[in-house]
Amino acid sequence: MKSFLPTRFIVERDPTRCIQCNVCVTQCSFKVHYFDEDDHTVKAHEDNCVGCHRCVVFCPTNALTIRRNPLEYRTNANWRPEVIEDILKQAESGGMLLTGMGDDKNHTIYWDHLLLNASQVTNPSIDPLREPMELSTYLGRKPDRLTFDEAGILTTTLAPQVKLETPIMFAAMSYGAVSLNVQLSLARAATELGTLWNTGEGGLHPSLARYGPNTTVQVASGRYGVNPEYLRSARIIEIKIGQGAKPGIGGHLPGEKVTDEVSKTRMIPIGTDALSPAPHHDIYSIEDLRQLIYAIKEVTNYEKPVSVKIAAVHNVAAIASGMVRAGADIIVVDGLRGATGAAPKAIRDSVGIPLELALASVDTRLREEGIRNQASVVASGGLRCSGDVAKAIALGADAVYIGTAALIALGCHVCQQCYTGKCNWGICTSDPVLTKRINPEIGAQRVINLVRGWSLEIMDMLGGMGVNAIESLRGNRLHLRGVGLSDTELEILGVRMAGR
Ligand code: SF4
Ligand code: SF4
Repeated sequence: MKSFLPTRFIVERDPTRCIQCNVCVTQCSFKVHYFDEDDHTVKAHEDNCVGCHRCVVFCPTNALTIRRNPLEYRTNANWRPEVIEDILKQAESGGMLLTGMGDDKNHTIYWDHLLLNASQVTNPSIDPLREPMELSTYLGRKPDRLTFDEAGILTTTLAPQVKLETPIMFAAMSYGAVSLNVQLSLARAATELGTLWNTGEGGLHPSLARYGPNTTVQVASGRYGVNPEYLRSARIIEIKIGQGAKPGIGGHLPGEKVTDEVSKTRMIPIGTDALSPAPHHDIYSIEDLRQLIYAIKEVTNYEKPVSVKIAAVHNVAAIASGMVRAGADIIVVDGLRGATGAAPKAIRDSVGIPLELALASVDTRLREEGIRNQASVVASGGLRCSGDVAKAIALGADAVYIGTAALIALGCHVCQQCYTGKCNWGICTSDPVLTKRINPEIGAQRVINLVRGWSLEIMDMLGGMGVNAIESLRGNRLHLRGVGLSDTELEILGVRMAGR
């Protein structure tokens, strides 16, 4: 069938710069560039280009430019180019449209409408270069009050706590969805930074077992790789109920990504599709969730916090309250812009709510019910910079997960082709050639640099606000003001309008 889809990207090769070195040919897994034997020049199949920029970055003579095809459609607010092209794709494929990464639609990004405070005359600011600033955070259930005996010895039994040196952790990305070298980069970075990385739902590869003290392991509906040893090897165990990129549906790792090593780690046959059901087949109520939480606590001798991750949906605050009462020590709220290796485009772009609103609602509800101390809250889903992190903490998070930002540090250019398994940057792929493009040593250093940079910036922001500990910012919405938001939005965020 003749495709009616226009070419999305124009590949321009400057003939005065190109030295016919073929680097672009070997770098592109989508087979855009090819060497024409007839006239001995490198040419392009532009239709194949996904805009991942690998060839542009690696061309030794800067001969390449990738541009969006400036093809003009008639202006139509309803039938926009993307809408037309999606219909054309489905008319040709007859299937669901798949995509990778997070929601790219023009929903309000509330972080950009929230501004942080800074001290001026009274309550002077603190200079982080001269005074100690505390970024460490403890995750886990806190007691309502502490009791001491006559000798001043603490008598309250504390639930297990996990100390993070910075409130930034790495989000769940499973082996199979990302390469082992990506996980190794994140595990090394987490260990060096004093924070945690997360296995996602694909099990723990034996080579990563030594990073256990800095590892969160996931228990998802597919139960891939889950056994007592897996649970005991981790610092935190996370039950994944939902994720922001695809609330309400399960996961699907295509069989071609289930290589020998992935199959062993997931404990499934090679080449079979890894289908995670939408629900856990043993959880249909908060009581069922409680049973799983306590089964995990039993297996791990009540020594490890149990976290529960949900997607941000309409009744997220009530769900979070139920989870805390069911015994969750940490709750993770994953917003609309959370990323994934593969999701139906219709779900990714139309289901769920923004993290900012969900986070504020959860924090408010838990405070109103007097149970905020009983669980830590982790915010996740599209956090882009240190400012987003500081604002998330001011809205009520104890810590955050970053996923896409960490992958961008590793080279990802957000081309959204993760579901194809052909990631040119060696990130979302099991291809043995492509996965070598991530050097775990260099990868870890790039991620460490990113988180160090953000942590320094957060310290600067804290100092500017006149506080010397991240704990003093948590849920302190007086440090936030809103711009360009309606009264209802400000009310849900619990933030005053700028100028008030
Ligand atoms: S990588 Fe650059 S110089 Fe080499 S063939 Fe491609 S366009 Fe030409
Ligand atoms: S991980 Fe790879 S395929 Fe996915 S968006 Fe990033 S560069 Fe593209």
